[in-house]
Amino acid sequence: MKHTGLWRFGAFLKGVLSASGKAVAGLFYPRVCCVCGEGLVRGEEYMCTACLADFPFADEDFGWQPEMGSCWDSACRPEKLYALYYYNKFSPYKNLIYQIKYDSHKMLGRYLGRMLGQKIRGKCTADCIVPVPLHPKREKARGFNQAREIACGLADVLEIPVYDDVIGRIQNNASQTGKNASERLKNVANIFELRQPQKIRGRHVLLVDDVITTGATVGACLRVLSGAGKVRFSLGCLAQTL
Ligand SMILES: [Zn+2]
Repeated sequence: MKHTGLWRFGAFLKGVLSASGKAVAGLFYPRVCCVCGEGLVRGEEYMCTACLADFPFADEDFGWQPEMGSCWDSACRPEKLYALYYYNKFSPYKNLIYQIKYDSHKMLGRYLGRMLGQKIRGKCTADCIVPVPLHPKREKARGFNQAREIACGLADVLEIPVYDDVIGRIQNNASQTGKNASERLKNVANIFELRQPQKIRGRHVLLVDDVITTGATVGACLRVLSGAGKVRFSLGCLAQTL
């Protein structure tokens, strides 16, 4: 019992540090809902209860769609596409993606990754996760790769490993915005290289990105990953607008 005082002091210190850590985090990310901007109350995290109640979950996890054919080789077709939610440019839920990518809200990426994990647990049979890599320069500018944070959130729930060294990005391609389908495909040709094929050979990979729009970037990634041999694929994203 003679350690009780010391233990109490340790617990006190831990509490203070935790509170000050939260206060510091609060300076950067005030306690407001990431969707509607209203203040959060105790117990709410990232989203207010109303926005969470209206969260536009994607209904079904769907398989191969013919319209994906222009981007994705038949040899590396994903078996399933798991999306957390739907949004369009009028939806306030687009703020979630915006805050992860442009406000560098790293922990929001991991939180939404865990939400996706809870949605697909028991359905997804992948045995490892590969995040779509960013070019090192872009990752340095943002401070993190949002796809890796989503992947780590998924891994927390699905309890499968994240391999972020299997594939690398060797070219920092120009933005896909404003390009048509064939320009997008050309824009992403040869931007990835396979670095650790042995890690995924014979495995079922869940390839993860934040948003899948035309699928051109993901298609290029799938093609390179399939070079490892006998790889099965599924896709995971926060939102898809295919
Ligand atoms: Zn809200």
